[in-house]
Amino acid sequence: MHYNAELIAVGTELLLGNIANTDAQMISEGLSTLGIDVYYHTVVGDNPQRLREALDIARRRANIIITTGGLGPTYDDLTKQTICEAFGRPLELHEDIWQGIQDYFARRMKGGKITENNKQQAMLPVGCTVFENPVGTAPGCAFEEGGVHVLMLPGPPYECRYMFEHQAVPYLQGLTRERIFSHEIRIFGSGESQVEATLHEMMVKGSNPTLAPYAKTGEVMLRATAKAHSREEAEAMLQPMIAQVRETLGDVVYGVDVSSLEEVVLRLLREKGLTLSAAESCTGGLLAKRITDLAGASAVFRGGVVSYTNAVKEQALGVPGELLERYGAVSEPVAIAMAEGCRRLCGSDYALSVTGVAGPDRDDRDNPVGTVFVALASREGTICRQLDLTRGRSRGHIRHLAASNAFDLLRRKLQGLPLE
Ligand code: ATP
Repeated sequence: MHYNAELIAVGTELLLGNIANTDAQMISEGLSTLGIDVYYHTVVGDNPQRLREALDIARRRANIIITTGGLGPTYDDLTKQTICEAFGRPLELHEDIWQGIQDYFARRMKGGKITENNKQQAMLPVGCTVFENPVGTAPGCAFEEGGVHVLMLPGPPYECRYMFEHQAVPYLQGLTRERIFSHEIRIFGSGESQVEATLHEMMVKGSNPTLAPYAKTGEVMLRATAKAHSREEAEAMLQPMIAQVRETLGDVVYGVDVSSLEEVVLRLLREKGLTLSAAESCTGGLLAKRITDLAGASAVFRGGVVSYTNAVKEQALGVPGELLERYGAVSEPVAIAMAEGCRRLCGSDYALSVTGVAGPDRDDRDNPVGTVFVALASREGTICRQLDLTRGRSRGHIRHLAASNAFDLLRRKLQGLPLE
């Protein structure tokens, strides 16, 4: 059975642009890891007639409909009633849920009286699967009618996520005896369109396993997904696919099921018992932040210097004033001197340095925004790369790309890969 889902978000605030439809983003992401295709997102205001129209359209083109919002006790919370009318399912009172809601109120509003309209939240479609809501009041639910599964989730993002992960996902997994298994392949140094063009045939070929790209800042992530009855059966499909991706793309694949370049760098340094430090100008401490965000960083990261001004480059890192004078702060000689100075200062095996123009304006030497130098100092000497990040969309994006390139330079060095 092939399942495809349509999401219907109910809420006038969404249409007015007061809030973004983050529930849909979260659910779509979750459905994709379940291998369920999502063909449409619909947003409709708190209006029963238009919700009814949206439901009538959705049930013709999807066999899973997931609604968010409109389950609460107020007059504009109409989702359940409208769905029940559309699918011919009467509502019935669930006494246990009603009791639970009253207990919840008693705990939270000591002495306050619960209003009768809250009872509406304990009214659920006859014969449905109840999705309890331990993090709020309104429960959700699911039922199947005429081959269409309808799942109702609350609007508040925390409640929606909780219910989706704890109740909706097991419900959806129960629709098929097969389970979903996936691996994430991370790529740095090759653009999304280039990766797609190279792997086009694999991406469009089969429906099991599948290979799909996901956008990540400055890099590409591919998810290989298989539907199978067991992990072994899935791996038998996934491992050859991953091997083929690695063979086709080469060493730009920096890891499988890893979260970031810095995670790979950290692991490699740990394995080899080596240490790192960082001298940062335009990244302002981002390298240090990204590596120290990871547990276990203290074993490899000795420290760093944010040498934002020439004076600090000179005084803290020992960059010769004459180099700064002659070549400017954004230059290869200065990047090299920063890395070497930092390695000396911190006593680390490796030191990375970054100096560049993050924008929005050119620097005092008229270097264009996105000109960045990254250097790596080690016992064997120092190498420097000039990066052209002029495609960077913003200051933040350029800084992120600069830091990623620095980590990738070290990753390649540690793995003995070509550095150009
Ligand atoms: P409640 O019991 O709080 O009334 P509900 O299920 O009735 O929950 P709504 O009243 O529709 O949900 O929405 C409650 C709040 O949740 C909204 O004010 C909004 O802040 C947030 N919300 C609703 N829908 C979404 C959505 N699709 N994405 C992100 N936030 C949402």
